[in-house]
Amino acid sequence: NRYITINNHVNGAPQDSDFELKASPLALSLDPASNVVIVKNLYVSIDPYQLNRMKSFSASQKTSDFAVAIVPGEAIDTYGVGKVVASTNPEFDKGDIVVGLLNWGEFTVIKAGGMLNKLNTMGFPLSYHVGILGFSGLTAYAGLFDICKPKKGEKVFVSAALGSVGNLVGQFAKLSGCYVVGCAGSKEKVALLKEKLGFDDAFNYREETDLNSTLKSYFPNGIDIYFDNVGGEMQEVAVSNMNINGRIAVCGVISEYLDSEKRAAPSMIEVIYKRIKIQGFLAGDYLNIFGDFLSTTCDHLRTGKIQPLEDISDGVESIPSAFISLYRGQNIGKKIVKIAEE
Ligand code: NDP
Repeated sequence: NRYITINNHVNGAPQDSDFELKASPLALSLDPASNVVIVKNLYVSIDPYQLNRMKSFSASQKTSDFAVAIVPGEAIDTYGVGKVVASTNPEFDKGDIVVGLLNWGEFTVIKAGGMLNKLNTMGFPLSYHVGILGFSGLTAYAGLFDICKPKKGEKVFVSAALGSVGNLVGQFAKLSGCYVVGCAGSKEKVALLKEKLGFDDAFNYREETDLNSTLKSYFPNGIDIYFDNVGGEMQEVAVSNMNINGRIAVCGVISEYLDSEKRAAPSMIEVIYKRIKIQGFLAGDYLNIFGDFLSTTCDHLRTGKIQPLEDISDGVESIPSAFISLYRGQNIGKKIVKIAEE
């Protein structure tokens, strides 16, 4: 069983040298009393938040309480889809397709109580269940609809808009009749946002020297909803451009993950006078709406109203570069690693 681990804690930008491909023997013959499932991993999710779990305790203590810190040398858990190859758990049989907490590796051994469910693919590719029909999709859906409550005609701004979460936020907001502008880090991404995903407008934030003026030019009448994936200066200027009763869903602050000292400082006076609602959230708190999310998103996929956007790398050895690519803005949509054929 080959799997990826970190050599040591990672406190800055992740590099290839931070990761190691390890191997350990895997016994498929299980003790009948063991209540264990062995899953052959098929598709695993690659997510920015894993970096916060890789930091040394002193750097990560403020952020790692929502997810268990990763121990150097040990397997790294993630959301994924796989196939049961051995089971002494009465709920699972060999051959079942499952979704749950798997490893960045070829196999996962899941003890009783581990997060694992049988997957009903509903006719969609397995990879969709790691991204658009998994936690990335739920994050976009919950943050936009539960926190921001978009209304027809409202002006919506999305950062990291061509990422896994951001592209869906924009597409859901368009389906709600909103005017949607996204920002991303390259010309190619801007073109995709406008031409493929139906955003009303988009800009490359890396080319802008005065982000406040940039937002004013894209939102001359102000922003009603900001879906924040990046934090930092973009959050500050977004607050300055919000309308009265605006809503901000703070989904992620990736621009702050590399530097624990860097923190956005939006103007609280503006938050007060404009009665802006700013709310952080975790997708994991929204499992109660997973069913609604799934049926809505499946319908939109079937009718072609939502475009899936996936960026799939091949093989367990590609996991480090896939993860690093998120911090270099190289992914186009949901970053997934395909580990094996079904
Ligand atoms: P993405 O697919 O959006 O990948 C990350 C993207 O972030 C990159 O492609 C890059 O795009 C952008 N980025 C990287 N570094 C920076 C930087 N320094 N400044 C600005 N942008 C940067 O990832 P996800 O969609 O999976 O996640 C988006 C955000 O949502 C993250 O912050 C993540 O942690 C958070 N999240 C939160 C969840 C929750 O439950 N609250 C659940 C899932 C994700 P670009 O070209 O635009 O620079």
